[in-house]
Amino acid sequence: MSDNAAPATNFIREMVVKDLENNKHGGRVETRFPPEPNGYLHIGHAKAICLDFGIAAEFGGACHLRMDDTNPTKEDMEYVEAIKNDIHWLGFDWGEHLYFASDYFEKMYECAVELIKRRLAYVCDLTPEEWEKYRGNLYEPGLESPGRSRSVEENLDLFARMRAGEFADGEKVLRARIDMASPNIHMRDPVIYRIRRAHHFRQGDQWCIYPMYDFAHCLEDAIEQVTHSLCTLEFEIHRPLYDWVLEALEWPDRPEQTEFARLNLTYTVMSKRKLLQLVKEHHVDNWDDPRMPTLSGLRRRGYTPEAIRKFCEMIGITKFNSVTDVALLEYCVREDLNKRSGRYLAVMEPLKVTLENYPAGKIEYLEAVNNPEDPEAGTRQVPFGRELYIDRADFMEEPPKGFFRLAPGKEVRLRYGYFIKCNEVVKDADGRIIELKCTYDPETRGGNAPDGRKVKGTIHWVAAAAARKAEVRLYDRLFNVENPGADGVDFLTQLNPDSKRVAECLIEPALAACPVGSHVQFERQAYFYVDPDSTADRMVFNRTVTLKDSWARQNKR
Ligand code: ATP
Ligand code: MG
Repeated sequence: MSDNAAPATNFIREMVVKDLENNKHGGRVETRFPPEPNGYLHIGHAKAICLDFGIAAEFGGACHLRMDDTNPTKEDMEYVEAIKNDIHWLGFDWGEHLYFASDYFEKMYECAVELIKRRLAYVCDLTPEEWEKYRGNLYEPGLESPGRSRSVEENLDLFARMRAGEFADGEKVLRARIDMASPNIHMRDPVIYRIRRAHHFRQGDQWCIYPMYDFAHCLEDAIEQVTHSLCTLEFEIHRPLYDWVLEALEWPDRPEQTEFARLNLTYTVMSKRKLLQLVKEHHVDNWDDPRMPTLSGLRRRGYTPEAIRKFCEMIGITKFNSVTDVALLEYCVREDLNKRSGRYLAVMEPLKVTLENYPAGKIEYLEAVNNPEDPEAGTRQVPFGRELYIDRADFMEEPPKGFFRLAPGKEVRLRYGYFIKCNEVVKDADGRIIELKCTYDPETRGGNAPDGRKVKGTIHWVAAAAARKAEVRLYDRLFNVENPGADGVDFLTQLNPDSKRVAECLIEPALAACPVGSHVQFERQAYFYVDPDSTADRMVFNRTVTLKDSWARQNKR
């Protein structure tokens, strides 16, 4: 990653530096990114990915991609492939370190047997009603399950029979034998295995018992010899159990878990459950709908990996939960697109302009700079003729003070072209303006008048003879409240009904030649992305982000 020479420091990076100084883990740095393949990755995952892969890369270690597929019911190979694709797109690579937690099921089973042998785990057969009673609460310790006093032999036998399928789902569980009086509920003899007859997408029907997250995750890290296991703050309270399991097994060179605050964004939901619901109930078109905060959605919207990485760097890593303004992400996207996007002319709501003193049938070509931010991008020739289209919004019959665009009797500059002056407004029977009759000043080719007279406005246009029709998908925020789902409100009632508008526009010919995946700027309007739905006859452009930058304005330095 070469976005920036020196990565911004944070408490995790400093911890790793210290560990290396102390030669902890023999000077190794090994991290992992452990998604559960039950949904697509989102911008929150990008934060974790940049951290996990970034730390490993900076300190010469490896970052594993581990599919945390220990929960058989919701996982799917489609998600596995999408996750791999999105991480590569973001700019990271796990090399040979692709792992599946389900590949460790046998090893995890052996570890559970080992805990039983050490009298540190037992089979418990409390009913759900009894569980309620035995669990205790924040103020009172829990009660010991009768299973707690079983002999090692009996526990080994019962656990083997759980695996062999002799008991019904939920009839028995395996529990760690820790402390029923612990103030941390997670340490009150937590369940580490449960019976569940569910088909696993990789293991098939081989197993009817599955390890619980807290037992599985630390073992996955330990088996892979991870050194620094970085996760989000909600796991802080699970850390004592993480450590307990590995200590109980006397695992050598144990991995250590460190927590950081997850990313929350305004106007965005990030929970996979909610994202799945948006897709399944067709509130959006799919996982890669450009309104989704998924990496595939942001990609299709026209966000770039560079912009997302920059955003992750700017938000930093802390221990405090907070909500980041989505405008900051949009700012990063604009900054990046400004450097890489070609500028083009496109008209959203066409209003015909006829240049009465321009020869009929003549077409000339005007030179346009492709990207003023990138000298390498060169120039192109834009066709110009007697009949043009401009945007309706750039004309006013009765302009208020301060309106510097076109108006009756007023002069304006056409981008890359000439000064034109409006002489007559043509209306249809309903009084709607359908055409402007104008004259152009041939002396002003290139945008300056030899007599030094000035015009304040420059507007975009396309030549009628050369314009092509295209579809534009105008995306806006998916939710119209800052914190969807807050205060018990159903987040689906807060969907923005105008989050997607489809319209037709007219584009200059060069735009029609941009391949799928191009980032372009429609001058004076917005950045757009050429959607894969485009065909040779009909281009489709997704609006990535408008040119107006609310974040930079709010945060003027
Ligand atoms: P959800 O709770 O919505 O199901 P998850 O956190 O369970 O999401 P995982 O697939 O388990 O999703 O996440 C993989 C990794 O990404 C975890 O280490 C998790 O901590 C991290 N992660 C998930 N969401 C965020 C977020 N919003 N910000 C930072 N890291 C995140
Ligand atoms: Mg999770």
